[in-house]
Amino acid sequence: MSPLFDSKQMVVSVERAAIPALLKGEFAAAALTAQALAEDSHLYWSDSSHVACGPGCDRCCVVNVAVLAPESEAIARYLQQELSPSALGALREKLTILHDQTRWLDDEERILANHRCAFLDEGGSCSVYPVRPLLCRSVNSTNADDCHTAMSMLALGENHPIISCLVQKEIFEAAFIGLGQALKSCGLDDRSFRLAGSVLLRLNESD
Ligand code: SF4
Repeated sequence: MSPLFDSKQMVVSVERAAIPALLKGEFAAAALTAQALAEDSHLYWSDSSHVACGPGCDRCCVVNVAVLAPESEAIARYLQQELSPSALGALREKLTILHDQTRWLDDEERILANHRCAFLDEGGSCSVYPVRPLLCRSVNSTNADDCHTAMSMLALGENHPIISCLVQKEIFEAAFIGLGQALKSCGLDDRSFRLAGSVLLRLNESD
């Protein structure tokens, strides 16, 4: 019998791997370590051949995404490296507006109002893809039509099942928990925050 993915072991591995960077105050490095470990596991354990997600399919990028502080730090650093000062300024404005519009909305309300993620580019791709949050990586679907139906129904307060690769979901959720446990073990804030507000905070702090 082939071995099964062990999510508890994944949590422990990510926690252990992220602690050294956190102890040195290197938040972004801790997030990148967690992401790399999870991506390696994803390559090893998941069969992505049936996953329909790809560039330009942005239907799920309208729900609230929870991130840990190291993840938002990694995104903020990435944006500072990749964007010109004027593009970064425009993005900050976009994040500020989105944060104000969505901070009190649940998923259903946000979908209904169609407040899409500020990191979606014009082609519907994720502009922070290499450093995107762990929970964004966990979301997947084997059928894009199912996502469209599910999002429309969720806006009306009803659920529609989405068939997804459960191993992929488990891997990235375990990595998220492991990173949270690493923060806790280091005596750091292990709460999760909403994506737009958290990245904005990190960008403002680095001014
Ligand atoms: S960070 Fe990227 S993947 Fe996540 S919701 Fe935003 S655009 Fe989508």
